[in-house]
Amino acid sequence: MTVPSDHPGGGSPKAEIFIHIDFATLTGLSGNPAELAGHGPLPTSIARAIAFDPNSTWWRIITDPQTGAPVDVGRTRYRPPAVTADHVKIRDRECRFPTCHRPAHDTDLDHVVPYQRNGETNTANLIGLCRRHHRTKHTPGWHFDLTEAGSLHITTPTGHTYWAA
Ligand SMILES: [Zn+2]
Repeated sequence: MTVPSDHPGGGSPKAEIFIHIDFATLTGLSGNPAELAGHGPLPTSIARAIAFDPNSTWWRIITDPQTGAPVDVGRTRYRPPAVTADHVKIRDRECRFPTCHRPAHDTDLDHVVPYQRNGETNTANLIGLCRRHHRTKHTPGWHFDLTEAGSLHITTPTGHTYWAA
């Protein structure tokens, strides 16, 4: 978890600092060190005090437990971090549109549930579509759904439905 904090500094312009703290530590279940970005370790009690300040903003970031790299930044950013893009492209291999074999590294990342409708920027809501099929998806009458298992269900303007792996 990253806790950027906007602290009104005695009349001066707001300063933005970023504190990285894991959820268990934030909630008091463990006491792992927090980190003040750019400076280093921060005592847990101070990190919690800043995090729970009413002027602080929390960003939920889920990280890969092995690498620490962010894999899900929820609604905090629109553009997916490179690791998420890489994950989706490696998973999809090709454009997800049925019968299209354009390689995934050549595709756009599409939010299946649009970002404007609260779709999240994570691997469960992103698919690779080549530019042509990305445009198709956004044409009126087309409807794309991703199941929880990751299967893509497509409804065409004529009402035909297709499952794509
Ligand atoms: Zn395609």
